[in-house]
Order: sequence, then C-alpha cells, then structure tokens
Amino acid sequence: MAFVITDPCIGTKDAACVDVCPVDCIHPRKDEPEFEQTSILYIHPDECIDCGACVPACPVAAIYDSPESTPDSQKSLVDANATYRAGDAGAVAQAEAIVKAHVAAHPDLMAVAPAERAAAHAK
Ligand code: SF4
Ligand code: SF4
Repeated sequence: MAFVITDPCIGTKDAACVDVCPVDCIHPRKDEPEFEQTSILYIHPDECIDCGACVPACPVAAIYDSPESTPDSQKSLVDANATYRAGDAGAVAQAEAIVKAHVAAHPDLMAVAPAERAAAHAK
C-alpha cells in the first residue's frame, strides 16, 4: 500500500505535499533538477509510510490513500508513481510518458480546472 498522486497535480504542482512528508518520498522536490521537467510529483511506493500527512496538504485533492482507492480513470498513474525514480533519467522519462498518455486519453478531465478535477474522477 502506498499513497498515489493523480491528475489534479497537473497544472498545480505546488509541492505542498513535499513540505509535510516525514520521509521525503515525494519527488521531484523543487531543489531537484527534474522538477522543471515533470508534469506531476510522484510518491515512491516502497518509501511511503502511509502516514496521510500529504492528503490535507494538497490544495486540489490529487492524492489517494492506496492504489485500490484510486479511481479507475487514474489507475495508470499508479504505475507512473511506481516508475518514477529521482536521479534516473530513464525512469523519469518513462513515468512522464505514462502521464502524457493519461493526458491524451482523458481530454475530458484535462478540460476541467485542476481544483475541480478530483470531483470529476469517475469511480
Ligand atoms: S502518506 Fe505520508 S509518507 Fe506517504 S507520501 Fe504522504 S506524507 Fe509521505
Ligand atoms: S500538494 Fe497536490 S498539487 Fe501540490 S505537488 Fe503535491 S500532489 Fe501535486
């Protein structure tokens, strides 16, 4: 089990979650070189301790508390979170490719403002 960042982070990406995570498992941080390259932030599933601190910190409700609770429309982003590795250019590119495919597959969600997008996630 691990928490999962989903598409309301696209267009928001304010790193508020990074500031509250006690184990530094959300990347890229603003001080990491990949920050400018990524569409969203990613939670490392093996490092997340399921504390829940990031959820209320997120201004757009982008974070779900497990892969199982992540809505069907967001399932590919479970893989994106699991794929991303800070400092690994190949893994960064692979995770971003998953996010870009998600964006291409969901013009309906992308048409919704980030703050309203979580409400539009179909279960
Ligand atoms: S649930 Fe806790 S450990 Fe996991 S990403 Fe959120 S703040 Fe970090
Ligand atoms: S707090 Fe939410 S919107 Fe901000 S970077 Fe984290 S997941 Fe993305």
